[in-house]
Amino acid sequence: MSFAADTKNEMCKSVPQRSCCSKAECYGLLLFGRSFSRASVCMVTENAAVAHRVAQLAAQVAGVIVDLRSSISRRKENRNTFSVTVEGDDQRNHLLHAFGHEAGEINLRIHRKNIVCPECLASFLRGAFLCCGTVTDPNKEYHLEFVVPYSNLAKDLLVALQMCGVERLQPGLTNRKGSFVVYSKGMEQVTDLLTYLGAPAAAMELMQVKMLKEVRNQINRRTNFETANLDKTASAAARQVLAIQKIAESTGLGELPEELRELAELRLQNPEMSLRELGESLSPPLSRSGVNHRLQRIVDLAETLPER
Ligand SMILES: [Zn+2]
Repeated sequence: MSFAADTKNEMCKSVPQRSCCSKAECYGLLLFGRSFSRASVCMVTENAAVAHRVAQLAAQVAGVIVDLRSSISRRKENRNTFSVTVEGDDQRNHLLHAFGHEAGEINLRIHRKNIVCPECLASFLRGAFLCCGTVTDPNKEYHLEFVVPYSNLAKDLLVALQMCGVERLQPGLTNRKGSFVVYSKGMEQVTDLLTYLGAPAAAMELMQVKMLKEVRNQINRRTNFETANLDKTASAAARQVLAIQKIAESTGLGELPEELRELAELRLQNPEMSLRELGESLSPPLSRSGVNHRLQRIVDLAETLPER
């Protein structure tokens, strides 16, 4: 599975705390789709979790039952595509009204009234990302973008990102093949934005990839590996290894629950592995966020032990 798909699956697991935030996320999911008007409300996604998220939220916040269809796209290497539509004039009018839109609108803009509490904006932007966003595999570059069909909507999204309170975030806007692309690039910006949007495990993987790239570069430059490894405070993997060593020396790894012990030994032997690679090496395999969760338990456990 791609990094972007993993990221979206992770985001789909986070549940908004308040009903206003659920509504804001649903708004983002539908507003940035292929169409959002009296004639047609339609969003298309390759991600099953996203399609089910829209269906669930539309029913929950607007009482609208969407039509969900999947088809195989030959153009895209036979991948599954899901289209989510709202059928019937009554349902569409009801949905537009629920989000404060007029039925005959030509110029689609973001209605601020759907952003109620301080967390609503993050939920709304997560919905927008799930609908029209993607993030590049960090092994290639650090880049996150939203592809928006309408100019004014893209401008509104740019402003929303500028106001969202993520430090250092400097989103940009550009054109590509008749669409408007709102993007953020750079390791720190993309990491912070992923965390803000509800994908901390994806953010962590990105940081880890950067660390590994740096380590590889340093080895390639034939510098001393020990020097490269000195960046321990910044490295999650190194923190985990230290925690495991501490447990091994104090209580012994044998005292860990079975599911933590296997992972602890694996991490100890493979400090360079990404969370995904670790998960694939476990039997049975475990998702990246599952691995992240277990490693966090190990680190937490080590912190409860007395210092040597
Ligand atoms: Zn809210």
